[in-house]
Formats: sequence, structure tokens, C-alpha cells
Amino acid sequence: MSEPVRYELSDAEVPTTWYNLVPDLPVPPPPPLHPATHEPVGPDDLTPLFPMDLIAQEVSTDSFIEIPGEVLDVYRLWRATPLHRARRLEAALGTPARIYYKYEGTSPAGSHKPNTAVPQAFYNAKAGISKLTTETGAGQWGTALAFACAQFGIECEVWQVRASYDQKPYRRAMMETFGATVHPSPSAATEYGRKVLADDPDNPGSLGIAISEAVEVAAADPEVRYALGSVLNHVLLHQTVIGEEALLQMAKAGDSPDLIVGCTGGGSNFGGLAFPFLREKLAGRMAPEIRAVEPASCPTLTRGTFAYDFGDTAGMTPLMKMYTLGHDFIPDPIHAGGLRYHGMSPLISHLYDQGLITAVSKPQLECFEAGVRFARTEGIVPAPEPTHALAVAIEEALACRDTGEEKVILTALCGHGMLDMAAYTAYLEGRLVDHEYPLEQVQDALTRLPRVDV
Ligand SMILES: *Cc1c(COP(=O)(O)O)cnc(C)c1O
Repeated sequence: MSEPVRYELSDAEVPTTWYNLVPDLPVPPPPPLHPATHEPVGPDDLTPLFPMDLIAQEVSTDSFIEIPGEVLDVYRLWRATPLHRARRLEAALGTPARIYYKYEGTSPAGSHKPNTAVPQAFYNAKAGISKLTTETGAGQWGTALAFACAQFGIECEVWQVRASYDQKPYRRAMMETFGATVHPSPSAATEYGRKVLADDPDNPGSLGIAISEAVEVAAADPEVRYALGSVLNHVLLHQTVIGEEALLQMAKAGDSPDLIVGCTGGGSNFGGLAFPFLREKLAGRMAPEIRAVEPASCPTLTRGTFAYDFGDTAGMTPLMKMYTLGHDFIPDPIHAGGLRYHGMSPLISHLYDQGLITAVSKPQLECFEAGVRFARTEGIVPAPEPTHALAVAIEEALACRDTGEEKVILTALCGHGMLDMAAYTAYLEGRLVDHEYPLEQVQDALTRLPRVDV
């Protein structure tokens, strides 16, 4: 008897609204603050960076927001994404657990990032903006935004973290193929980049530095805006298409998750999958544990401080209350580049502070081992980031082998690793190491948190 391994949705079943978790929360999240006055930021403070439609979504109190038809038309190129039951992995583990994964690697960029890049490019084009600037770490976000800008006829300028620019020439090639201009960061193209280079010509860059450069260029030109690929409320809002689809697909599979597990860099793929399920949980309709997994060398939730901090290194962004390792902390160059961010989405941070989600950290060798196991059974080479979630899914499934529990595990396989093969080669050749948690550097960076009296 052949059992289903994939659950699809027809075009007619694809969700046409994004879900906003904020109005359903028992306690509202703390507001972002102006970096100079420390007063809550108003829409006017954000207009140099974002168009009004996105600012309205950032602060919205509506539960459901209509997805524009122009955005749905582009989503249709790859959505709905499939939900898989990992039967071959289950069999290899000999577990009674049922493992499901929502696969976002079928998108044009190979990850979940276009889910927000497309609406961000659309709303900016609609507002008459001619160019978007952004940063990219692993290259996934830059690729997604380059694709999205091409769809709506606007320019795209990307600051790619130097280390990734050198290690991942194919990511740059993909961005350039979609029509974007790509700089290594730190770059000589911005005042902040020149300052960093003057201090340290070999600086390998960080997401925080690249954000400062992209923000500087956008803030100086009224025709140009900035786009962020994670962290902010409107980004997580757009990503809820993942969870809304997964809810319908889990129903088709006749299962309900006991554990939802996802990797967290800024929190967008995790929030995108989890928020619609958290809505159901808060309404008493299901009771999954929702668990974030982060790298042991950049453990924002599990080892960071819950405080107001800047989103970038130069200190130009609004202050956000979040779990942070300090805005000038530079994590070790692990291969899951998308998880190397000093902060965490304020919304995810708030959920963790409120006890609505749990979190663990994992070292990279265990994650690559999980990634290889997954590739050899399910046939998909995962991006290094979601191997963190797979490591936990496998650990849980092995525990079920001992207890006999038929736990239902759902994870976001948020991207494929086809442009990360150098990392797999390094793992397979035994050249990868686990980095110690850099306690002293974090403690040092935390001494430079902005002082906020609230
Ligand atoms: C960007 C990225 C991440 C990290 O970002 P989140 O906002 O935490 O999702 C994780 N996985 C992949 C494949 C990415 O491209």
C-alpha cells in the first residue's frame, strides 16, 4: 500500500490573507522607540525608510490583511508549497513519531524569503519608489529581493556581507542575473562603510554593518527606500502564508502537531509557520509546543538579554525591545549565515518572554549531521539554517523510538542548500568545527547597549 508523502493545495485553496498575531496576544508587545528621543516611534519616523502601506502593516491591529491580487499573481509561480511527510526519514530512524516538513525551497530564490520580498517590492513600486536597498548575509534575502524588484520594475542595490561575497560567488551571480547591483560590505560606497574600512581594511563584515550601509543610502534619497528581510512585524506577517497553508495541509493529512520546530535567525520563517498555529493554540483548538532553534555560537534567545537595542551596528535604526547579544557583537563565521544576527524579532522575543514559545541552541556539527541524514533519506539537501530545526526533529523522533510515543512533529524546511555545497564539502571532509559560545565578547558588547529608562 502506498501512503501519501506530499500534501498539496489547489490554487483555489491558497490563502488570500496574511495573519497578524498581535491583536490575539494576551499582552501587547513593547513599542519600538526613537533612537534619539526614546519616545515610541510614530509612522512619520519610519517614512524615510518604508512606504506607508508597509508602515500601516507594521503597526496594524487587524487580524487578517488582504493579500493584493498583484502579489498573489507572483506567489502563484511557486505557492502553495508542498507539505511533506518524512516517511523515509522516519523509517531510517525507526521512530513511531510522524515528521512533517513544509518545504519553502521551491521558490525562485530557494527559500521562504520571496514571501515578503514580493509584497515589499509591490508596495514600494505602488508608492512610486524607484530603488530598494538592502543587506544580505548568506545571500538568500538579496536573491529574493532582486527577483521581486525585477517583477515590479524597480532597481535593487544590495550590500552583501564581505565573507559571504567572497565565499558565495553564485549567490552574487544570481542577484546580478535578476538585475541587482551588489557591493561587498563594508564598502567604499557609503560613509559608514568607509569608516569601518579605515579602522580595519580586512573587516569580514556582518549583517549589522551591511544594514547600516543600506539604511544610510535609502535615508539620503527620497526616491529610495530600504527593505528588511526578517525581524520586523510586517515581514513576519507576510511569512504567515507558510503557516496558513500548513494548517490546511495538516488537516488533509489528518494530523495535528504536538511539536512545531523552526530555526531562528531574525525569526521570520519560524514565525511564519508558527503564528497561525499559535492562533489556534490561544483559541484552545490545539496545543502544540512551539520551539525555536538557534546556533550555539549566536544564541540570541537562550543566552541573550531582553532589552532595547539597535537593529544595526552603527545605531541608526529605531530601538527595538528584543533578545540581543549586543548590536556590535560579531558572531563566528558559521555556515548558517542566515542565523548570524545579534538580535531577534521583537515579536518572537515577546513570545519567548511571555512563555508562549520555547527555545534551544544547537552546535553546527550536529546540524550538518542531521542535514546529511535528511538528504540521504528525503532527497533534499537542506540549507544549513533549517538543519538546526532538523537536528531537534531527529532528536525528538529518536526519543520517541525509546518511549513509543507517536509524537507529531512539524518543521519548516525553509530553504534548500544547492548554493551552500562548499559548507557540505567542508563538513564531509571533516574541516568544520564547533565554535565555543563567545561569552566574553557578548558580555563586552552588552556593555554598549543603549541606556533606556522604561
Ligand atoms: C534568511 C534565512 C533564515 C533566517 O532568517 P529567519 O528570518 O529567521 O527565517 C533561515 N533560513 C533560510 C533558508 C534563510 O534564507
